[in-house]
Parts: sequence; C-alpha cells; structure tokens
Amino acid sequence: MSTFAEIYQKIEQYSTIILHRHTSPDPDALGSQAGLARSLKLRFPDKRILCAGENDEGDLAWINRMDPVTKADYQGALVITTDTGNTARISNKLYDQGDFLIKIDHHPDVEPYADMSYVDDQAPAASQIIADFLAAEKMPITAEVAYPLYAGIVGDTGRFMYPETTEHTFSVVAKLASTGINITEIARNISDVTFVQAKLQADVLDYMEVDPSGAAYAILSQAALEKLGVDSNQASCTVSTPGRIKDIIAWNVFVEKPDGTYRVHYRSKGPVINELAAKHDGGGHALASGANAQDLAEVKQIFAELVQVTKEYQEAHE
Ligand code: AMP
Repeated sequence: MSTFAEIYQKIEQYSTIILHRHTSPDPDALGSQAGLARSLKLRFPDKRILCAGENDEGDLAWINRMDPVTKADYQGALVITTDTGNTARISNKLYDQGDFLIKIDHHPDVEPYADMSYVDDQAPAASQIIADFLAAEKMPITAEVAYPLYAGIVGDTGRFMYPETTEHTFSVVAKLASTGINITEIARNISDVTFVQAKLQADVLDYMEVDPSGAAYAILSQAALEKLGVDSNQASCTVSTPGRIKDIIAWNVFVEKPDGTYRVHYRSKGPVINELAAKHDGGGHALASGANAQDLAEVKQIFAELVQVTKEYQEAHE
C-alpha cells in the first residue's frame, strides 16, 4: 500500500486528473469523489480536474454532478477511483484509458486493480480517508470541500451508528463541520424520503418474512415499484428498514429489475455477509454488501445461506 505522500507526489506530476466512483452511487461514492476533486481544484487551479461517471446521480445530484468526459481526455491523465473495490463496479468504463491509476478505498481489497493504492477497510467511509488525506497533505478544506465529505461519512456510517464509527470519525466530522456547512440540511437530504418511498418502506415490512434465527428478507417486485412509480435505485431507501426491528439481525432486500433479475442488498448487525455476497456476483463490507440474483431460485438460495450464517452466529453467541 502506498502512503498519502506518495499519492500526493503522483498528483503533482499530472496536469489532467480524472476521478471515478462506483456505479449506483451512494453519498460516500459521490462525496469522496467530489471532496477530493474540489480540494484539488483549489490547490492546483492550473490542472484539469474532472469527475467522471455515468449520469446516474439521481436523487443524490445535490452532492455532485459529473463532468462530460471523452476518451481523448484520458491521454496522459492520472485516474483516481474512490470508494470502488472492484473494476466491475467502476463508473464509467473509460477509467483504464489514463496513464496511471490510483485506488483510494475502504472496501476489502479483493481486487487490487490499480498501479498505486491506499485501502483501509476499517475506515467507515471513503470520504473519511479523503478527509484524512487532505489534512495530511495540508490541502484546502473549505465548506464546498467539506459538504460532500460530510455527506459521505453520514451516509456510510448510517448517521454514526455502524461499528466502524470511531472517535477519529468524530474528530474528522468536527473539523468538516467547523467550515460552517449546514449539517442539518445534509442529514435531512440523506434521510428524508418522499411519501412514495415511505410507502415502499411500509411494503418492505408488509412483504417481509422473518426466520426464527433472526434472518429476514423482503422482495420488492417490479409490479410493486411500478404501482408506486419508483425505480430500483429509489428503492434503496428501504434497505435499512428491517434492521430497525430488534429481533432481526441479518436481512436481504431483493429489488426486482426491469429485466426480471434482482439487485440484492445484504445487511447485518453481526453475522459476516460479504463472503455470501461474493458467491452471487457481489461483495462489499462485512456488515453491508450487495449482489445480483438471476431469478427467484437464486433469491431462495441466497436467503437460505443467510439463515445458515445467522444460525451459526447465534449459536456462537449464545
Ligand atoms: P448496497 O446494498 O447496494 O447499498 O451495497 C452495500 C455495499 O456493498 C456497498 O459498500 C457497495 O459498494 C457494496 N456492493 C454492492 N453491490 C456490490 C457488487 N455487486 N459487488 C461488490 N460490492 C458491492
């Protein structure tokens, strides 16, 4: 793994720097990308700094918008990915057209795809790593830099609830907050849902099946989504809903896509689930992962595996 100083030296060498993040972006993907881009622009006004990705920011466009990029922009460019553990999830696919590739991430390093990387899978958010990088290299942290980074940390810590949240996280967000950003606005932008999304959360509770082990699942069909007029990305707001129930310790939310396959969300309060996700074209963190299922048979298989690890976890903790 490289040091922050080595990454900074690489940045100094290039006049074009293009930043990528993962597909179906969440606040941490967009926040880490935007925070780094904005600080680089302030420190190096003569360099060309671009944010690349499919235009799939959707409801999160308040964090950042993408710049238009073409293959020609990558000639002799430095490319940096943030918050993206594997190449399949990098948005967009021009990322390998540059001169040199750096990965800055907090997912387990299952695919070390870059020429240089800084990966800390204990960090609760890639945005926290970027904030640490900016502080270590004495880069500008103005309110416009702090805003997306704070959003990324709030998003990936579940508003400071998940176990990777540490004293250091609070010292980082205190520094970001000291720039004068509106932390209430950011938290509301992340957690407020539309009336329709709230109805979808109610659907999840209605459709949910709970196993005696404490594992649970819900399927959101295309028909249910169409009835409410939401797409599968907007359905992500339902993913943490089952976890609010005390007796549920691990759960899947399956969201049917228009092609009849399923986007799979795994969440857990203890049982490790990223190894399960890896078996189904997915991956992620120990307690928050995503995957894909081709059909209902694979959906059933995925939940059976979740029940198994939940039982084992319960037995080990009795
Ligand atoms: P999600 O359920 O989509 O919110 O994703 C939870 C976590 O798993 C995030 O950290 C994602 O980056 C990661 N993740 C989601 N889908 C995949 C996938 N197909 N492959 C690898 N990681 C994923």
